[in-house]
Amino acid sequence: MAELGQPPYRATQAYQALTRGLATDFAAIGVLPRALRAALAERLEPLALRPVETRATATSDARKTLFETRDGHAVEAVLMLYRRRATVCVSSQVGCSVRCAFCASGARGLARSLSAEEMADQVLHFARELRGAGRSVTNVVFMGMGEPFHAYDETLRACRLLSDPEGFGLGARGLSISTAGVVPAVRRFTAEESQINLAVSLHAATDELRDRLVPLNRRYPLDALLAACADYVARRRRKLLFEYVVLAGVNDGDDQVRALAGRLRRPLYHLNLIAYNETGGEFARPQAGELAAFRERLVAAGLSCTVRRSPGGEIEAACGQLAATRAPGPLD
Ligand code: SAH
Repeated sequence: MAELGQPPYRATQAYQALTRGLATDFAAIGVLPRALRAALAERLEPLALRPVETRATATSDARKTLFETRDGHAVEAVLMLYRRRATVCVSSQVGCSVRCAFCASGARGLARSLSAEEMADQVLHFARELRGAGRSVTNVVFMGMGEPFHAYDETLRACRLLSDPEGFGLGARGLSISTAGVVPAVRRFTAEESQINLAVSLHAATDELRDRLVPLNRRYPLDALLAACADYVARRRRKLLFEYVVLAGVNDGDDQVRALAGRLRRPLYHLNLIAYNETGGEFARPQAGELAAFRERLVAAGLSCTVRRSPGGEIEAACGQLAATRAPGPLD
């Protein structure tokens, strides 16, 4: 605006129209003078991502959108609708370098991290879709493709963008970041003054098994990771969620129950079990009964533990299935 000889309040008006007002186009920003709208449209592209295709589940409780970045990469985000909540699962990278054994997102390695605008745009896209139905985004989870703590600065900037009360205005308590266990970033996050929730992908409670499932464990083993987690809880006094993909016959044995009980029986720790979603690998999804029994054993061992409802499996939109390959299927 300064370059165009405009007063600063014009920038505020444009910013609010694009974030709070969900405008996609400068021409539609009615508060700006017509000549200024044209000048902006000539200079700036308001959208960082172009939505390419959307698939929805039969019951419409989940929708997955494939987006294209300006430099031609594909990323996916998912909207999950619950009775009172509407949660967007955001991708932070194109691909992922962590290569967890059971996850599709890292299968082809990492292309690049996304910018904060590219992360926030995924949320604004679904906010626009919801607005027609009189609903709004209540939660944003950085649990899509990528390791958000390998894109630390941009992820935190996306959080600040989304929670800016002058802009999109999502409550910081509605934001959650999930990490595969990048210990220095967990420590850095602990020092931030923020209300953002943290989740840690554990998947095994012995180093031997976790080395195999989450290769990052060789660099940041369980003792180091859980020491950083304990500091986080002590300093921030916030609940900490541990995610645990249950792989039938692999990480649901008595040894893991004992190790989990030993490591996680602490105030404010919560264990969230995720039934493995098929990604075409060597692993098997546990039967519903087996999963419930595993949870019972963990509860009996003194842990706070629940099973995650993970909608979207039928459209490859469930945890671990985002890979941004174009799959044939019903278009919306
Ligand atoms: N890289 C971050 C963010 C991804 S969050 C992290 O690892 O935490 C996505 C969650 O889904 C992670 O807990 C991940 O381990 C889990 N997940 C990956 N593949 C899965 C699969 N096939 N089935 C179920 N959960 C899976």
